[in-house]
Amino acid sequence: MLSVDIHNHVTPAAYLKAVRDAPQRMGSRIERDDAGREWLVMDNGRSTQVRQDFVDPALRLQAMAEAQIDVIVESILPPLFHYWADIDQAVRVCRSVNDAIADNVARHPGRIVGMGMVPLQQVTEAVRELERIVRELDMASVIIGTNVNDKNLDEPELFPFFECAQDLDVLVFVHPHEVTARQRLRRYYLTNWIGNPLETSIAFASLIFGGVLERLPRLKVCFAHAGGYTPWIRGRWRHGYSHCDRGKPEAVLTHSIYEYMQRCYFDTVIFDELAIEYLIRAVGSDHVVHGTDYPSDMGIWDQIPLINSFQSITQTDKDKILGANAATLLKLTGAGFANR
Ligand SMILES: [Zn+2]
Repeated sequence: MLSVDIHNHVTPAAYLKAVRDAPQRMGSRIERDDAGREWLVMDNGRSTQVRQDFVDPALRLQAMAEAQIDVIVESILPPLFHYWADIDQAVRVCRSVNDAIADNVARHPGRIVGMGMVPLQQVTEAVRELERIVRELDMASVIIGTNVNDKNLDEPELFPFFECAQDLDVLVFVHPHEVTARQRLRRYYLTNWIGNPLETSIAFASLIFGGVLERLPRLKVCFAHAGGYTPWIRGRWRHGYSHCDRGKPEAVLTHSIYEYMQRCYFDTVIFDELAIEYLIRAVGSDHVVHGTDYPSDMGIWDQIPLINSFQSITQTDKDKILGANAATLLKLTGAGFANR
């Protein structure tokens, strides 16, 4: 059985070098704190620590091997999306990051797979970079935020991006960032514990009720952190849509709310055995994919024994969740991809 981690963050070394060489051009800089730790500080004030487990492929692959993971799918951390930047700078950052991840992939064939990023603040450039990462860098997935400068994902201006993703058969991985209600969630890390799943739920609802999934029936979307609150509250959405006139979307939905959900994919970063089992029952074993969120502070990279311990699902379903589903979505074929 091939095991794949679809949710694995990287700060690629070649991109960091580009920042060190030309911070103004890249919209960020490296700073060192009093304890000697390095931080990547974006010009919008967001920052993330530069740790070797985000940067060094050897270290990262060693950690994954210890967790019985064969293949990691590398994506950038959300604070680095650069949707706030002017478009020339954002394009430069995306190209630098995508090229750097592609370099990691080339150096570790069969072990590292790339998930690209695009400058969604301008859809023509986002489409251009999406086409480049697919055709030139051979990537089959792209990470996007749950909003683009406070705009939800059903904004008509974003539609050409999703249309292009469907045409190119690219998996769109939706990851929370810049959470709403930040002021009220500022204590106890609730920005992450509540804000992140809230963001993901808003993004999911926008794609359903805004008609994006209706208009693009072959679009493949995977939601981080098991879809936020969506699997759990799906009944409210179905009941509300069929019984309540208030808030009726303009888009005409020809399928049930559950069908749109079951068309999408969900990672396993939910930290609760009952929740994972419920998720599998709600959306089906074909639509749950193993992820770790490594090496973020909210990551979990020892889930394979947990999922294998489930009595309620078959070994075939476990194999799908741990690797086969991701292998199909990301087109991980050939002898290069094998379990270790
Ligand atoms: Zn993440």
